Amino acid sequence: MVAKENILSVELQERLNHFQDEFWVPKEKLNHIIEYFISELNRGLHDGTDPLGIPMNAAWVMDYPTGNEKGDYLALDLGGTNMRVVVVHLLGNHKFTTEQSKFKLPSTIRTTKNREDLFGFIAESLGKFLKEKNPNGIPEGKVFPLGFTFSYPCTQTRVDVGVLQRWTKGFDIPGVEGEDVVALLKKDIKKRNLPIKIVSLINDTCGTLVASRYTDPLTEMGCIFGTGVNGAYYEKVSNISKIDGTLEDDILPSSKMLINCEYGSFDNIHKVLPRNTYDKEIDEESPRPGQQTFEKMTSGYYLGELIRKSMLECYNGGVLFKHLAKNSEGAKNLNKAYLLDTSFLSALESDETQDLSETDSQFKETLAVQTTLEERLFAKKLASFIGTRAARLSTCGISAACKKMNYKHCHIAADGSVFMRYPHFPERAAQALSDVWGWDGMKMEDHPIQIVRAQDGSGVGAAIIAALSDIRISKGLS
Ligand code: BGC
Ligand code: MG
Repeated sequence: MVAKENILSVELQERLNHFQDEFWVPKEKLNHIIEYFISELNRGLHDGTDPLGIPMNAAWVMDYPTGNEKGDYLALDLGGTNMRVVVVHLLGNHKFTTEQSKFKLPSTIRTTKNREDLFGFIAESLGKFLKEKNPNGIPEGKVFPLGFTFSYPCTQTRVDVGVLQRWTKGFDIPGVEGEDVVALLKKDIKKRNLPIKIVSLINDTCGTLVASRYTDPLTEMGCIFGTGVNGAYYEKVSNISKIDGTLEDDILPSSKMLINCEYGSFDNIHKVLPRNTYDKEIDEESPRPGQQTFEKMTSGYYLGELIRKSMLECYNGGVLFKHLAKNSEGAKNLNKAYLLDTSFLSALESDETQDLSETDSQFKETLAVQTTLEERLFAKKLASFIGTRAARLSTCGISAACKKMNYKHCHIAADGSVFMRYPHFPERAAQALSDVWGWDGMKMEDHPIQIVRAQDGSGVGAAIIAALSDIRISKGLS
């Protein structure tokens, strides 16, 4: 039964209908996007240097994990928000154990003017971690092999080199783009005399795929739905025409190589994605306009900004928060870019209370705005439109890769704060796949292509890739 006060005023209902149209992506549109997505994936395999295209970065990992890799490795995960150091014990037989420490990135680091702030902080944290784990000192001559998960687009000519193409997710530190980040980190590790050898650089999506494949052989893709969005899969070497002529003799054209798509940059020419005014503003106001178009519509870094902008427009139009004075703290907050993050939408969407009391506290605590029940209902619906669009659109990369590779039954390993913690995201993503692949009436758990929760890719995946590189080296392969 719908209580009387659950009904919105005509003007708010009209706004809501408008937002529903703005953020809804029908099945036909998804299909259209996927078709173009496939051609862009192929174009990137031929030449990934066009900043308007998808990079399709070769990761130089030539093997699937067998699940029998063994050994102790350090993994370093530099993500969008946190940094983690992990010791991974690969036990073989598809098993592993880990011990980890988290380090919060200083909030100013994203845009520091000095690259040593970043690499110094990483090396410093590594030093602390080693000390903590080896209270009696590190045995003479011991060197820890390390897999470095660096979740930004890099050009790799080998597994232990990576030149940053461009920063994403709001990072903007000068002197790193165009440089080998492994060399930069090595310098700071050496300065501190740490017994660490970086053996591989990987993207989080590649780690996600490999770590999940270690335990689940049905895994064909690794995806991140988090602060950023991206995916990785294994491609036939003969299809990666841009690396023709650079391959060592031991690599057969029939073999496969891990590709970090970097498809957050899909549709930078704005050909197919249904961008609305808020998307356009977010792009124009970002440190990198024209870049990461797909990511800006789907990733956790931007969802809070989408709802803030939508609500602000309603406030300025006099239909929402009518009693909020223009000079109030709440009005000022509503005008603050990036004040809201994805957890705000998550909280609204998971509020099952009758009077939406959790939403009420969210508004009070994060925005200092008093709301009526009608306004809370409106905001909750709006969040669901934005969250649903993100989920539906973000499956286009998965459908494109699966169609291209002819994968009809597989697991897509997914990680990232949005997939793991945003309410209903997995169900909405599954519904979008079902729309596109025609699985009407089938239960979600029976879908032939399933997006499943990944193993810790940035930790365990980095260790497995480090182990795979060790195995190649010991076999005398490159
Ligand atoms: C980065 C990718 C990364 C993704 C998810 C994007 O912004 O460019 O390298 O995989 O975020 O973390
Ligand atoms: Mg991460």
